[in-house]
Amino acid sequence: MAQIVDLRSDTVTQPTAAMRSAMASAPLGDDVFGDDPTVNALQEKICGLLGFEAALFVPSGTQSNLCAILSHCQRGDEYIVGQFAHCYRWEGGGAAVFGSVQPQPLQHQADGTLSLEDIEAAIKPDDAHFARTRLLALENTLGGKLLPQSYIEQATRLAKDCGLASHLDGARLFNGATAQAVLTGSDVRKEARRIAGCFDSVSVCLSKGLGAPVGSLLCGNREFISRAHRIRKMAGGGMRQAGVLAAAGIHALDHHLERLAGDHGLAKRLAEGLKDLPGLQVEAPQSNIVFVDLIGEARERSTELLEYLKAAGILATGLYRLRFVTHLDVDTAGIDRAVALIARFFKN
Ligand SMILES: *Cc1c(COP(=O)(O)O)cnc(C)c1O
Repeated sequence: MAQIVDLRSDTVTQPTAAMRSAMASAPLGDDVFGDDPTVNALQEKICGLLGFEAALFVPSGTQSNLCAILSHCQRGDEYIVGQFAHCYRWEGGGAAVFGSVQPQPLQHQADGTLSLEDIEAAIKPDDAHFARTRLLALENTLGGKLLPQSYIEQATRLAKDCGLASHLDGARLFNGATAQAVLTGSDVRKEARRIAGCFDSVSVCLSKGLGAPVGSLLCGNREFISRAHRIRKMAGGGMRQAGVLAAAGIHALDHHLERLAGDHGLAKRLAEGLKDLPGLQVEAPQSNIVFVDLIGEARERSTELLEYLKAAGILATGLYRLRFVTHLDVDTAGIDRAVALIARFFKN
């Protein structure tokens, strides 16, 4: 049988041979003592790349956001966040459960932003009735969408003027930066730094498009990271010879940023291939995620379609609205095979 084309998520990638080799030869120490030279090097590397004073290597994006929210907020504080943001909707309510920090979710605009009016209206006055509004948390990319740079600048400026800190869940920051670089004619590294520079803290996943097996990085100023370090310990995220994982992150930041543009190209190729098929409504992708709505009679056939694709070695997710994510382990042939199979499914 042909190779599996796994389009469920960009988290499914296997470390490349070169990445495994970097992991195997990484110098290690006990990171709970601060002794792991590879973890320290990774943390310094992301600081240099994004322009922050300090950074912390954490096991997951979820823990990174938790450490961030609990470092910005105290018990009884609240953070303003989008309804569909990962750190509101997809993290088990961790900030509320572990930190007694209440979310103030807002409806997104069609482009994924939160309107400045809505943000401003959600900031509570200093009054005993209300939780203390402390933080604005944005996400970029959000559902594969790039937040406009001008919006990010305005929203974080508003937060600052109102005395709020700002956090970016940049799980896919480098996908956002890749998309933005196309618009500005700049490069992914400069755009990542420009986006990140608007925020007090930024979380980045190494285990998605960057292709590392495990890990995220939280960045901020020294005081913030020192608080986050304590919370990471409480959350059970203090890891010992973690350099074996950090080495994969260093390799990814050195070698996998520029290749993200190729993932975006494959997403576009998939969308182009599907857009004229009857029963499908394809959202033009801005990064590496393609959403496809099944409409009309096709609507009830999403489970059947996914089963059909699975039997042929193509994996995707969704109900009514299917999601296809491109990454390091997908190539042109795989995308073309997916397109051909979906076309054949709807012919029958
Ligand atoms: C995946 C993701 C996370 C969480 O990362 P995990 O490593 O899976 O915990 C957080 N935010 C966003 C936007 C994500 O896509």
